[in-house]
Amino acid sequence: MKRFKLLCFFLSAIFTFSFCSSGNEDNPDSSLEFTTSPQLLVDHNRSFLYSFSAKNEANTAITYQVDIPDWLTYDETSHTISGVPDWERLNSSFTINIEASDGDGSITQRKNISVQLGEILCNAAFGDPASSEYVLPYEVGESFKLSQSYCPSNPNWGHHNWFAYDFDMPIGTPLLASRSGRVIAVRQNQRDDTRVCGEENYVFILHDDGTVASYVHLTLNGAEVAVDQRVAQGELIGYSGDSGCSIGPHLHLGIFRQRGPYDRQYTMPVNFTNAEGPLNAANGLVQDGIYTAK
Ligand SMILES: [Zn+2]
Repeated sequence: MKRFKLLCFFLSAIFTFSFCSSGNEDNPDSSLEFTTSPQLLVDHNRSFLYSFSAKNEANTAITYQVDIPDWLTYDETSHTISGVPDWERLNSSFTINIEASDGDGSITQRKNISVQLGEILCNAAFGDPASSEYVLPYEVGESFKLSQSYCPSNPNWGHHNWFAYDFDMPIGTPLLASRSGRVIAVRQNQRDDTRVCGEENYVFILHDDGTVASYVHLTLNGAEVAVDQRVAQGELIGYSGDSGCSIGPHLHLGIFRQRGPYDRQYTMPVNFTNAEGPLNAANGLVQDGIYTAK
């Protein structure tokens, strides 16, 4: 038992959330077991979701006691815990404690789950790229390397706990609208190569569903669109650069729910219908992958 707990602690330090259950010390030979395996814990509406179940050899009814934070609700029929986290507290964590008992309460198993908000967000599934609303933000036939993907584990990287992509590309590369919408912000008066954070040139485009695409680090005078202009998917919006908080010429593309300009905490997982290149198990683009627009 002790060894298991130690291993559990060790694993939780490695994986994105800890998922450790422990048996009742009084019933070490208990036949009651949780059958749930770890799974993705956030859906496309950014709701936290966790379902569980347990079984016992005798196949008698199992009762559950669930201890959860106030913002979560527990559905007793489906044994599902759900709720919408305060995504602004990406670095905070919460715990879920579940106790399962057999009919007469003589056998009990407990499951204690510690969840870190930023990490479950970064575990979101991206959905099928074939049904994505987005295309790669550059011309068909072009290939660029993804120099930084989303949610890197190193907290010193720019996209920690954050969905965004950095494509390495030479200054002056044509940038196309990844999705249609209305231009809501443009800045293009900043020089390239200053390495000063906050001095980025950018184009922000509001989509019909309320999300916003941010195209960042454009070159000086590199915008080809104006505020309030309607742009179609694939339309030229400007030219890439190296302005602001950047260590080399690249495009930063981030999609977020509009709550204010440049709201990094509400970024969304997106992939692209026309991207030829490697995807991870969640259908997200991968660090250092080369992506060709088809
Ligand atoms: Zn970036």
